[in-house]
Amino acid sequence: MLNITNLTATVDDGRKTILDGLSLSVPAGEVHAIMGPNGAGKSTLSYVVTGRDGYDVTGGSVTLDGEDLLDMDPEERAAKGVFLSFQYPLEIPGVPTLTFLRTAMNAQRKARGEEPISAPDFMKRARDVAKQLKIAPEMLRRPLNVGFSGGEKKRMEIFQMMVLEPRFIVMDETDSGLDVDALRVVADGVNALRAPDRGILIITHYQRLLDYIVPDQVHVLAGGAIRASGDAGFAKTLETEGYDAYA
Ligand code: ADP
Ligand code: MG
Repeated sequence: MLNITNLTATVDDGRKTILDGLSLSVPAGEVHAIMGPNGAGKSTLSYVVTGRDGYDVTGGSVTLDGEDLLDMDPEERAAKGVFLSFQYPLEIPGVPTLTFLRTAMNAQRKARGEEPISAPDFMKRARDVAKQLKIAPEMLRRPLNVGFSGGEKKRMEIFQMMVLEPRFIVMDETDSGLDVDALRVVADGVNALRAPDRGILIITHYQRLLDYIVPDQVHVLAGGAIRASGDAGFAKTLETEGYDAYA
């Protein structure tokens, strides 16, 4: 599904190399976790995969189902089903959550050459997912994320993913102050989003999150590359032993 080979990326007009020969493969149906010290390049990896401005890829490749993602602008990547979950979700004053989501969905459908979803079909789908996530309908009429608690923002993000049905999800939770409730929301959401034709990459600082989401593989990112990989138990080893061995 997602294949990253020998990826190098710089910032600051090439003055600073952050990713330095990173290779990683996430097959469809799997959840992989990336852990690593601060400044290792974890967030940079998520930005490069989704195509944020300011990060220059200087070598290597990133493909989704064999298609070159690096060749696409961020909107095309989203239309291919790449979803980046933000650590600090965007607040959009004045735009009701449902309006935002329907606009996003139709932009993606248009890019794929599909007809827009009808208002009744969209409403039905949104209502079904909201019910499943125990989100009150009033919440969906409020402007996206404005005044939402940390847990509510996370729940809303899971809601967006369930409605949009992305093929590949990147979640960067590093350094975020998720409380236990928000952790549970994320974990339950990720577990519900697991699917045979979907890949999920979770970047996390918290071994604790991986008690609820049991990943298929755990990778250590240090110094801009993947230094070691293991099964779910490896996260516990890292928790006790730290990253010194991979510096
Ligand atoms: P992590 O998420 O693993 O903590 P990041 O990917 O955020 O690491 O950052 C990796 C390194 O790159 C850090 O040293 C950070 O300061 C630096 N960095 C990230 N983005 C930029 C940027 N836009 N300009 C300059 N340095 C950056
Ligand atoms: Mg980070």
